[in-house]
Amino acid sequence: MQKLEQIYEGKAKKVFKTDDPNLFIVDYKDDATAFNGLKKGTISGKGVINNQMTNRFMAKLEKAGVPTHFVEELSERETLVKKVSIVPLEVIIRNISAGSFAKRYGVEEGIVFDQPTIEFSYKNDELGDPLLNTAHALALKLATPEEIDTIKKYAFAVNDFLKDFWAKCGVTLVDFKLEFGRLVDGTIVLADEISPDTCRLWDSKTHEKLDKDRFRRDLGGVEDAYEEVMRRMMGAI
Ligand code: ADP
Ligand code: UDP
Repeated sequence: MQKLEQIYEGKAKKVFKTDDPNLFIVDYKDDATAFNGLKKGTISGKGVINNQMTNRFMAKLEKAGVPTHFVEELSERETLVKKVSIVPLEVIIRNISAGSFAKRYGVEEGIVFDQPTIEFSYKNDELGDPLLNTAHALALKLATPEEIDTIKKYAFAVNDFLKDFWAKCGVTLVDFKLEFGRLVDGTIVLADEISPDTCRLWDSKTHEKLDKDRFRRDLGGVEDAYEEVMRRMMGAI
């Protein structure tokens, strides 16, 4: 598979065309940003971990009935994926209060919900990814009602899978963000990544944060946390 011109450079990954018009190569960087790009830094080795973790989860999810963009891991940092047109929604599932949920609703972090919540943000950096509901997404024609139903169904299925998986590793899945895309024929598939950049992961016993919050909140031990969750994942896969 030939890597052709770069078509996009985001905050954490680069996307390249290939000689197949339906396939892209994603290249994971060590760059880290938070607060809509206001805080910038590097997490050494993050690109390798996020690439490998994402791919292992995508392969497992595919088997569990959630279609994904994953095709083949090409190297430590590079993966061949199906080209999609990204649905401009950040889909966030929460099992426990944290982050913007705790801030917005004035509650402490760590409240375990009886049922997971789902919310959407409009994926638009200029607007700061504003929160929106299904009716807003339909009004803005970001997706069809059928696509929204499919996305919700897959997002909860991903949560069921990931929550159980991480529990076996002694890790509590607090919340996470997913992105979905449309294949050329319109099929909705899971895209982007599943990693400590996009999930909140707490040690089940100590509640120690093992994710990007260590970077966001200057807690130190960022690289160690990424390595720790990767090590635990590899022990359970
Ligand atoms: P951001 O755009 O938020 O800075 P990244 O640095 O992770 O994020 O960049 C990767 C970009 O590639 C994201 O915009 C994501 O929506 C997009 N993307 C992920 N998977 C695919 C795919 N299979 N096809 C096309 N674009 C994708
Ligand atoms: N998240 C993400 N990208 C974003 C926003 C959120 O991956 O642009 C993830 C984040 O890592 C967390 C979950 O989505 O696991 C919920 O994030 P939250 O809304 O609490 O926002 P934050 O605290 O990051 O502002």
